[in-house]
Amino acid sequence: LARTTMARKAADAAIGATKAALVEMGRKHGRAVHLVHPAHTTTDCARCGARTKHALPLSERTYTCTMCGAVSPRDKNSARVMLVRAGLAPAGADLVRPATC
Ligand SMILES: [Zn+2]
Repeated sequence: LARTTMARKAADAAIGATKAALVEMGRKHGRAVHLVHPAHTTTDCARCGARTKHALPLSERTYTCTMCGAVSPRDKNSARVMLVRAGLAPAGADLVRPATC
């Protein structure tokens, strides 16, 4: 993560530019672009929606839910959380439930 204000501003600008480019390409080619709020995507459980008390250290690669016991690679869990938030939960896929909020 960016440690200085300047580095943080540069990173924010890069993310903003990427987002704008993605939205523009989606519009140009008639594709749907779903923007998902990034907060807590790594700490929420994709199966039950529970949030862990503490952020996982980056060295911890496996997400284990303390509420429902779901275990999955952390990146896969985050990807599933984003799919659920975007309303794109594929029917029949395990570890995924429709968003309730
Ligand atoms: Zn869970």
